[in-house]
Amino acid sequence: MFTKTTDPALKSFIPVDSENEFPIQNLPYGAFSTKENASVRIGVAIGDYVLDMAALESEGFFKDVLGDALVFSQPVLNDFMDKGKETRVKVREIISDLLNAETSTLRDDESLRAKCLHPMKDVTLHLPVRIGDYTDFYSSREHATNVGTMFRGKDNALQPNWLHLPVGYHGRSSSVVISGTDLHRPCGQTKADDADAPTFGPSRLVDFELEMGFFVSSGNALGDTIKIDQAEDHIFGLALVNDWSARDIQKWEYVPLGPFLAKNFGTTISPWIITMEALEPFRTESPAQEDPKPLPYLAHKNLSNTFDINLEVYIKPNGSEANKVCTSNFKYLYWSMGQQLTHHSVTGCNMRAGDLLASGTISGPTKDSFGSMLELTWRGSEPIKLSNGEERKFIKDGDEVIMRGWCQGKGYRVGFGACSGKVLPAKC
Ligand code: MN
Repeated sequence: MFTKTTDPALKSFIPVDSENEFPIQNLPYGAFSTKENASVRIGVAIGDYVLDMAALESEGFFKDVLGDALVFSQPVLNDFMDKGKETRVKVREIISDLLNAETSTLRDDESLRAKCLHPMKDVTLHLPVRIGDYTDFYSSREHATNVGTMFRGKDNALQPNWLHLPVGYHGRSSSVVISGTDLHRPCGQTKADDADAPTFGPSRLVDFELEMGFFVSSGNALGDTIKIDQAEDHIFGLALVNDWSARDIQKWEYVPLGPFLAKNFGTTISPWIITMEALEPFRTESPAQEDPKPLPYLAHKNLSNTFDINLEVYIKPNGSEANKVCTSNFKYLYWSMGQQLTHHSVTGCNMRAGDLLASGTISGPTKDSFGSMLELTWRGSEPIKLSNGEERKFIKDGDEVIMRGWCQGKGYRVGFGACSGKVLPAKC
C-alpha cells in the first residue's frame, strides 16, 4: 500500500518535524502569491515552505509530462485536475524526487532554491480551484439519525430513501471561500414555533458543519456516466469543508425542496488539497452496507473505499483560547466518495474538473464526535461550556471556528492545514 512517494522512510532535505502536517509523503496543492510576485500561482506545501510549481514549470521540470502546457502558472488547479490521474502521479514523482534528501538538484542549487521555495509565513494563500459546481451530500448515518430524531422522533429518524441512495443537494459555488475568510452572520426569514408569521433579521442559530469535500479531476461528457469501479479515478483529492448553516432560516425554508439560503452565505475550505495518492496509505473500510444492500450500480466490490482521517473542531471566542468541541473521523461516513460521484452522474449529469462534492456533516457514534452544534448541544438544550466561563448553544459573533484534519503515519502526519473562519456581525 506504500508507493515510492508515500514510503514512510522518505526524508526531504527540508526539515519537517513529526507534528508538521506537510512532510514529503503529503505534497498537497494550493494557490499562493508572494510580496515580490503578486500573480497567483500553484504551490505545494513542504514543511514550513511552499514549493513554487510555476517556477519549476518555467524551469522545464515538467516538460516530459506536460509538454508545453502551463498548468501551474495559473491561479487555479482546474487545468491540472483535468489532466487526470496518470499525469498527476508523474508530477508527484518528479516533485517527490526533487525534494528528497538524497537528490542534489534543488538541495545544492542555492539560486534555484531561492526561486522555488518560499517560507510559508511569507506567502498569501488563495482559493486554489475555480469551482464550477458545488454539491453537498448527507452521508453520515449518525448525523442523519441525530437530526431525524430531533425533528421527527426516533422511529422515523431516517427517511425511507436514506439507506438506498446518497442524499444530496446542489449548493452554491460562488460563496465557497478559503480558510481565513471572515463571514457575516446571514440575515433572513425565520419563524418561531409559536409565532403566527415569519420575521426578517439576523439568524440567531449560526452553526458549523464538519465536512470533507473532494474535487473532481477529469469528468464525464453529458449523457455518459461514471461507473462505481472507476469512480475514484475521477477524484483529484480532498479538502476540509465547513458548510456554515443558519438553522433557524433552514427550519422555515426547507420544505419541500431542501436547504437554500441557510447554506449559501459561505462555505469554508482548507487551503491545501491532499491528492488521492497521498491518502492511499490511510485507506480503510467503510461501514458495511448489508441491510439493505445498495443497488448494483452503487455496489462496491469491497469495503476498502474510504480513508482514516482524524478530524477536530475548535471554537475560539474573540480574545480567548480555542476550545476543542468535536473529535470525529472521515471513515464514519456511510456512503463513500465513489458512491456519491457515481450516483451524481448516473442520470448522465456531466461532472467537470474542479467540481466540489462535500460529504455532509461527519458525525461519529459518540457524543463528542458529533459534527455540528445542533447535535453537540442537542438543539441548544445542552450548552457547551467554554474555558473562558461562557457557554455556547450556537456560534456567536466574533467566534472563530477552526477545523483540523490529518492522517497519522508512524512518526509523521499528513494534514490539510487549518480550515478556519470567523463570524462577524450581521449587516441587516
Ligand atoms: Mn452540509
